[in-house]
Formats: sequence, structure tokens, C-alpha cells
Amino acid sequence: MLSRYVAYLIVSLFISFSLSVIADEQSQEAQKRAKFFANANLQEKAPAAFALQPQARDFLNNVSAKSFQQADKLVEAILADSELKQALAKWPELSITQQLPYLRKIFALECEVMAIEPPTLLIDTNTYPNRAVNFVFNTEFTGNIVDTGTVYLNPEKLTEQPHYGPLAFIIHETRHSYQYQLAQRNQPDVISQAYKHAFIAQKQLSGFSFSDFLTLNNEYEAFLFGNYVVGRLTNWQVDILNMGTYASQFDEQGQLKIDLPKMATSLSENESLLPHYNKAAEAQYLER
Ligand SMILES: [Zn+2]
Repeated sequence: MLSRYVAYLIVSLFISFSLSVIADEQSQEAQKRAKFFANANLQEKAPAAFALQPQARDFLNNVSAKSFQQADKLVEAILADSELKQALAKWPELSITQQLPYLRKIFALECEVMAIEPPTLLIDTNTYPNRAVNFVFNTEFTGNIVDTGTVYLNPEKLTEQPHYGPLAFIIHETRHSYQYQLAQRNQPDVISQAYKHAFIAQKQLSGFSFSDFLTLNNEYEAFLFGNYVVGRLTNWQVDILNMGTYASQFDEQGQLKIDLPKMATSLSENESLLPHYNKAAEAQYLER
């Protein structure tokens, strides 16, 4: 009788242990999902800052034409430079130290094409030891350009990136200076205001998921811009999974993996793209 009781106890303990393991795994999965997908509660705190929100719909519908036009100019400028063209042909063989002079050159060309005052370019391993790249900015938008921002590269951390990561990142971070300078001019147009709202939200909000942060107007567009340039330079054959959300990434035919402006055409003016984006973003969640 006693042994039957012990057996019963062991089985019950085992079941409750297994259930708690399952519950634990489920809550870990729920946490992972919360960190990846877009959150309406957070985005609604600054709806004009996020490309998924109806308040940024005009920005979403109008930004890419100009972005791709400037990105095309940059691609042409890079390809017109025979040294850069040669370097790009053997890019995966180059170490980060060998890439740096070319990255500096691309940085200069990008500033020229975008007609901006170049930001400070800071390349070291100790200013932000835990970051591969950074764009440093303030949020004083007075109507005058008082700061070009700082583009930061950490060569040590960049070695952990895929081969084309440093190239994609220098273009991305430098693009932020263009956006930042537009925001500081504080003109009333849709695009300048969208960037201004995004820079402010980036500083003021906390608790961003991967998708929240990367669908801020400025992040969405800077990844769109950088990925487009790298895509054209590599005939769309390079896929860097962590370069923004699928809404800013291209497939090997040069098509957006998630086409937000196209998705928006089937929505009413006041309807959020967020749930539709989240549904489409399952593919990136599974790929990561
Ligand atoms: Zn960025």
C-alpha cells in the first residue's frame, strides 16, 4: 500500500514538474515574441513616429521615391570609382581593417550625393565598447542645423558582423545624419516632420521591441536606403537578416520582403498597419 502511495506521489510530482517546464517554455516563447513583434501600446504613445501608424501614412507613401532616387545616385557614384568597384568585387575577402579606407570613401560619397554637411565620423573600440555602430544625436529642432550628429563604427565589434554588414551599416548610419539635418531644419513637410517625431520618440520612449524600434520612421527609411544600395551593388544576392525588419529588406529579385506602402493601399486612412505587419513578420521571426 505504501509503495503504491509513493509511486502515486512520484507520478504526480513528475507531472507537475513537466507542466511547469512546459509553462516555463511557453512564457519564454511569449517573451521572445514580445521582444520581436510590434506593440500597439508603445507605438500609440507617439503615433507620428512609427511607419506602421496611420499618422505616418503620408510619410510612408511618399518617402521611398526620394530615397531610391538618392540611393541610385550613390550606387552610380560608387560604381564610377574604379578603386571602390574593384574593392566591392572582392569584398568578402577583405578584413575590416582593409575595408575601412573604402568605408570612409563611401561615407564621403554619400554625404556628397545627399548634399549634407558630413557628420563626425568616429572609428574606435572604446567609445561604445558594446556596440558595433551608433548614430549620436540630440533632439533640439529649432529650424537651424546646429549639429550633424556622429556616425560611430567599432571595428572590433564589426568583425562579428556578416561580410557586408560594415558596408550596409556605414550607409545606414550616414543616412541618419541626412534625416537628422532635415529634422533640425524643421520644415513643415511630411518627411521632415516624420523624422523629427521619430528622433524624439527614439530618445523619449523605452521598451521598444525589435519591430517597434526598426519601424520608427528614421530606422525604417535608413535601412530601406542602405539595404537598397547594398542590394543594387551585389545584384540583390546578399541577405543580411539583422539589417532592419523585412519591411526594409529586399529579396533576391530586388522586391521588398514586406511592402508596407502596398499593404496600406487595402486599408482605410485611419487603420493601423501594425497587425498586418505583425502577421507578415512571422517569416522573419522564424528565420532569426
Ligand atoms: Zn539606425
